[in-house]
Amino acid sequence: MKHNFGAGPCILPQEVFKQASAGVLNFNDTGLSILEISHRATEFIAVMDEAVSLVKELLNVPEGYSVLFLQGGASLQFAMVAMNLLGEGQTAAYLETGMWAKKALAEAKILGNVNVVATSKEANFNYIPKDYSIPADSAYFHVTSNNTIFGTQMQSFPQSPVAMVSDMSSDIFSREINVADFGLIYAGAQKNIGPAGATLVIVKDEILGKVYRQIPSMLNYKTHIEGESMYNTPPVFSVFVSMLNLRWLKAKGGVAQIQIENEAKAKALYTEIDRNPFFKGTTAVEDRSKMSVCFVMENPDHEKAFLKLAEEKGCVGIKGHRSVGGFRASLYNALPITSVHVLVDAMQEFEEKFKN
Ligand SMILES: *Cc1c(COP(=O)(O)O)cnc(C)c1O
Repeated sequence: MKHNFGAGPCILPQEVFKQASAGVLNFNDTGLSILEISHRATEFIAVMDEAVSLVKELLNVPEGYSVLFLQGGASLQFAMVAMNLLGEGQTAAYLETGMWAKKALAEAKILGNVNVVATSKEANFNYIPKDYSIPADSAYFHVTSNNTIFGTQMQSFPQSPVAMVSDMSSDIFSREINVADFGLIYAGAQKNIGPAGATLVIVKDEILGKVYRQIPSMLNYKTHIEGESMYNTPPVFSVFVSMLNLRWLKAKGGVAQIQIENEAKAKALYTEIDRNPFFKGTTAVEDRSKMSVCFVMENPDHEKAFLKLAEEKGCVGIKGHRSVGGFRASLYNALPITSVHVLVDAMQEFEEKFKN
């Protein structure tokens, strides 16, 4: 059995894989595959509608927001956010907390001015800056809620005088959030929602339409709001499997319940990282991510041997990103706590083997 700690694309529930496979062979008893039916078929429109309503229900999305399933990944949102919200001559505020934040602000710079209100670059992004102010004349304020590569997570969000935009690619649906605090939330599907291909966007309608540039149709949120995410062919399979996964989450008790489980998983792993003399965490303790747990070994020469031991126990996807090194265990919603226990056992076994 494999324990998949991969950062993305990543683990989804086994029962979702089974339902998805069944849909590939015979979708909803139509006698057709989900891969061959028209996206205009009533059966698929029902899938899209259910996916959108599950997002609204699970995150308590208030009135006045639109939920969209788009394409292009979170990376296209870096540009699309600026294209739709950053007018010529305006400045957008960015919190620079990692590689993805850097990429997001680089795209915005193409379209307008960017003000980095704070950065943790000088410390290889091992903490979340907290002392900064957001100018009230900013077009919007952009944050990355979970820094997938560096293993930090915003435990709370600041009061923003302007629309707050968050890249939530790697922690959406992992914990409760107050959508009303945000003007726009986006997330690539492949880290807690479903398979790669779809990108979830939740946008407050009233922040749109205030920029006087020509926006190509496909890059304009309004096109997709009017088209109900069906302006062109949507990523049918990704939306279908995302819907199945959100159904799974709802049946489990929703975001509040999964948050409790995610906290228990993170606690089990960080407790061992702090206890075991062979390992240490890489980030400020108060900013530790509950989704992306980064850790290294006291003696880097041990890393190869530990990786091998963990792999023998079925743990896959734990090699850290090259910019941090060491290890990264992603604890997405579908990862059971029993998998974390296997990893912790491997760490303890390593300690036994190599001590003195
Ligand atoms: C993975 C990731 C991205 C990139 O997502 P794509 O869908 O591949 O473009 C962006 N931001 C964060 C926080 C991520 O974890």
